Amino acid sequence: MHEDPLRQRLVKVLYPADPDEAETRTEAIWVLPIVGDENEGTGIILNDSVSGKARFQVGDIATWISASPATQKAEIVASRRTPFRTDGEFLSRERTQLAQGFHAENEALRMRRVKTMAVLCCEVCGNPGVGRLLPDEVWRAIIPAEHQSKVLCDSCIDRFEKAAREGARAA
Ligand SMILES: [Zn+2]
Repeated sequence: MHEDPLRQRLVKVLYPADPDEAETRTEAIWVLPIVGDENEGTGIILNDSVSGKARFQVGDIATWISASPATQKAEIVASRRTPFRTDGEFLSRERTQLAQGFHAENEALRMRRVKTMAVLCCEVCGNPGVGRLLPDEVWRAIIPAEHQSKVLCDSCIDRFEKAAREGARAA
């Protein structure tokens, strides 16, 4: 079976559900980068947004940037409606040129917005990054009670996991 090269390049980016309210819920959406990559780029929105088509819909062009490429997903900073709606039209020449133009037009906006984006950091060690999700019962078993309600990075989770394992052996 052939893998579809288009599908392999899909990435997820984030955006605030309410564009006028930076502190609202964050949603994620699938995009196909035409210019750049998952950390900074411009491409095509591949599904309607969770909060409705008014925000984003299939075929829109969006440009995004990440405040901390190694540790968190990019956020959409601008988007535009297009007349294209179907899969077959996604990689048309016209569409590619539109994405390239939109990417260049919004360079300054991306640079400005990235400065105001919050870098999510671990609440124990202070390093940027949010660690993996664990099932609740595992989380409660390995993370000390005073840190259980905090956002932790992977290396802190690893450290607590190791300590819990060694504690269990010593007991
Ligand atoms: Zn940490």
